[in-house]
Amino acid sequence: MDLAQRDHNVIWHPYTQMKTAPLPIPIVRGEGALLFSDDGTSYIDAVSSWWVNLHGHAHPYIAQKVAEQLQTLEHVIFAGFTHPAAVVLAERLLQILPQNQKRAFYSDNGSTAVEVAIKMAIQYWNNVGEPKRKVVAFRDSYHGDTFGAMSISSRSAFTAPFWSYLFDVAFVDVPVPGQEEETIKQLEAVALAGDVAAFIYEPLVLGTAGMVMYTPEVLDRLMGICQKYNILTIADEVMTGFGRTGRTFASHYLEHQPDMMCFSKGLTGGTMALGLTTCSNQIYEAFLHNDKSKTFFHGHSYTGNPVACAAGLASLDLLLQQETQQSINRIAQQHDLFAEKAKQLEFVKEVRQQGTVLAVEFEAGGTSYFSNLRDKLYNFALERGVILRPLGNIIYMIPPYCITNEQLEQVHQTILGMHELVAKAQ
Ligand SMILES: *Cc1c(COP(=O)(O)O)cnc(C)c1O
Repeated sequence: MDLAQRDHNVIWHPYTQMKTAPLPIPIVRGEGALLFSDDGTSYIDAVSSWWVNLHGHAHPYIAQKVAEQLQTLEHVIFAGFTHPAAVVLAERLLQILPQNQKRAFYSDNGSTAVEVAIKMAIQYWNNVGEPKRKVVAFRDSYHGDTFGAMSISSRSAFTAPFWSYLFDVAFVDVPVPGQEEETIKQLEAVALAGDVAAFIYEPLVLGTAGMVMYTPEVLDRLMGICQKYNILTIADEVMTGFGRTGRTFASHYLEHQPDMMCFSKGLTGGTMALGLTTCSNQIYEAFLHNDKSKTFFHGHSYTGNPVACAAGLASLDLLLQQETQQSINRIAQQHDLFAEKAKQLEFVKEVRQQGTVLAVEFEAGGTSYFSNLRDKLYNFALERGVILRPLGNIIYMIPPYCITNEQLEQVHQTILGMHELVAKAQ
């Protein structure tokens, strides 16, 4: 039996309707932006394997650093003990994050990084003796799949069975161009009503919503309102972090600094699962107390895993190299040229771009996993050796920075070629 069939017999895949999904494609090797299947077919990974990969697959430098760490220390309990990789990674990240970020709390994925931030925010207000209950989020946001993260994410078809279990959240509209004043009004109204512990947002780009984008100017205004009303701000940079938006962090485009930040995905260059929540001294100090009940009682078995931290350090070395920074600019420029062309096409509703993230929204159907066109676009790209996972009628790219100009061109051409399928769907 081949691998795909054996997989089908024992495995339950994420976000997959197992009854109707085609057999998965067995990938046996990766190199740079390419993935190779067992029959030798190569695919350009234009979505960085669910937005995690920064420097290409099986990168030799990361592999070497991970191997060295594995031979030295694979894991150690992170309460009462520490190790060099966790300390150095925290030191180096805090140096390049917005300067008010002073403490690093490790976990093991994006959803847990978000859970940690939300719990910190709520307990912060308890610890300072002013308990506040509400959290504000963008209506179309996505912050993860655990219950807390689901609660602060859009009430979509994906979470419908759980709605009655999710805590109440005040949602405000995403301040896309033209909607800014409306969102400002909504946030002001929520803030005035009081009892708001925190505002959590995906800075500049809402990934799962379909790479929906808004300006740093309006986010700065929203953060200003939060500051005025004593609402903590949480930047969920799980997707936008580590260069995706053109700067190392999307928060670097802003005047205001968030109270807390969440990271995962690109944190290890896409090598290992690792989550990180950082916070300001103001937050941290509210947990320092002789009364033990003020402690932050949260942790995971693999908190601060040394191998994951070593991958994070290796990925950071690569990210900060001039060559990588040039690649980020190069991709952004190529996207720019492509966007000009794509905008001219019939049935293209909008082309959005922020740094290395590009999205083309076609005029068709609804933006959902359930749309028919989505599967056709997905297969069209696969048949051309390109991995693109459309979000309904939105096709997006978030490539590894090592993608070559030729590969980038091939992906852009594939997107332009989708035009006929879209025309037929009208
Ligand atoms: C992917 C994502 C998450 C969840 O991360 P996981 O590691 O998949 O749990 C949270 N927030 C944002 C913005 C994301 O894109």
